[in-house]
Amino acid sequence: MFNNKKFPSQEEMQKELQEFKENLEKKYGVGIGINLVGGSGSNVSPNATQEDTPEPQETFDLKFDLKPKDIKQYLDRYVIKQDDAKKALAIAVCDHYNHVRECHENPDASDTDYSKQNIVMLGPTGVGKTYLIRHIAKLIGVPFVKADATRFSETGYVGANVDDLIRELVTQADDNLELAQYGIIYLDEADKISTPPNIIGRDVSGRGVQIGLLKLMEETEVDLRSGNDVASQMRAAMEFQQRGKVEKEVINTRHILFIISGAFTGMEKIIKKRMHQSRIGFNANVVSQTDDAAQYLKHVTPKDFIDFGFEPEFIGRLPVHVLCNELEVEDLFHILKHSEGSIVRQYENAFKAYGITVLFADCGLRRIAESAIEQKTGARALMTVCERVLRNYKFELPSTGVSNFVVTAEVVDDPENQLQRIIKDSDYNQNTILQEHVRRYESQFNNAHGLEILFDAEATSAICERALSQKKNVNQICDEILTSYQHGLNLIKQNTGQTSFTFPIDVVENPDPILEQWIRDSYNTKR
Ligand code: ADP
Repeated sequence: MFNNKKFPSQEEMQKELQEFKENLEKKYGVGIGINLVGGSGSNVSPNATQEDTPEPQETFDLKFDLKPKDIKQYLDRYVIKQDDAKKALAIAVCDHYNHVRECHENPDASDTDYSKQNIVMLGPTGVGKTYLIRHIAKLIGVPFVKADATRFSETGYVGANVDDLIRELVTQADDNLELAQYGIIYLDEADKISTPPNIIGRDVSGRGVQIGLLKLMEETEVDLRSGNDVASQMRAAMEFQQRGKVEKEVINTRHILFIISGAFTGMEKIIKKRMHQSRIGFNANVVSQTDDAAQYLKHVTPKDFIDFGFEPEFIGRLPVHVLCNELEVEDLFHILKHSEGSIVRQYENAFKAYGITVLFADCGLRRIAESAIEQKTGARALMTVCERVLRNYKFELPSTGVSNFVVTAEVVDDPENQLQRIIKDSDYNQNTILQEHVRRYESQFNNAHGLEILFDAEATSAICERALSQKKNVNQICDEILTSYQHGLNLIKQNTGQTSFTFPIDVVENPDPILEQWIRDSYNTKR
């Protein structure tokens, strides 16, 4: 839809702001401070004097001393899989900020030979493309702006203007202009600004956006005061109000890192065609045996981007190509269980606020992952599934006496019936909790001793009953049962190589004789 409403001038905007403040003051009393624009430099009270107005910070001390491995290790904490992408990004980002630091330390040195490490990221939705870059920006301490390429138009009349991205960086940098000049701009859905040559009546606006971006990527100065966006208009209006004039303020884009990303659907066909036309420089057998898009995307070249509909100059400014792969069920399970930013922590905290402990069983996490994969939106679907499953638990449980519960596979499959059972049948709930503690004991044992142990269903029930009747916790009961097992199982491992053990109920009832028998058997096997 066209939005041809004329944008107000700075004076008009200032007048409207003043009226808006006066109305508010009438309604709520005098002296209201209104935070009109994001960022720390924008919280201005109606009676602010020039001294009250925080000046934009002009200086910024860039100390970049990270190595690619530091960045990769940091990303590993949050982002599951995508190892090649992490490495490629870590190298490109280090190259970029090392160069920035050198320019910073030695501003007179010429850097005409340097080509900026702007990046194209290819991969399906929800696999961590944005997440990787967000974490990189956070680690380095530079501002980060994400926008959809579809938001922009060539002229800015229809959509936003690409220059607005730079102004957003300043807002993200809390008005620190120098810091903003080292920021990262991330443009999603960049494949949508391609203009495929074979489309009839093609839409030329994508090409215009590419040219606008190209200018930013090369090097230009963007005037912070002349944007079409509300934030820059407000900023200018307020400055006019406070100082009686608006000073020109510019940002140079030379050191801003640009990353464009998208699914680039159909790119694999272009690569496939090129590779099969000229079978030079790649192993045709490997590629021809599979139709897996990722196999082809690995071989993407600038020419493929041009055939996809990008301007050669535009793609020439994006020398680093990074591929992110589709996530599988096991990856989604890992994200839930192991990544530092897992939404599981969010749910644990949400319930903790009501004094409720929620335990996510592995079987429950796996079922969430299985259910999420069907939505084909990568890790994004994890949140959707968790919300579907647990929303009513958040609503109901805080008003009951339930203080613990477990998210099992049954809960994920049939949340409503399980919720009623958890609320009404305290024996059932207690048993489920104790069983989950047995599972956690097993995995602690595995982590501590490198031996995989599993109590079967009967053995698990017997442990839970004993914990209840002896009023002990599950760990104490398991420790008592397995006193000699660490040593004994290691002997068996030495004799037979076995590292995985399933314990029947006999182990719970007669642990030592059973272990002795197993050890004797292991010597026989050895001989
Ligand atoms: P996209 O690839 O479309 O940019 P995002 O990076 O925005 O997807 O991923 C959406 C969310 O899914 C992230 O905020 C993060 O919580 C989660 N996520 C996606 N991929 C991963 C991953 N590989 N490891 C951990 N979490 C991930």
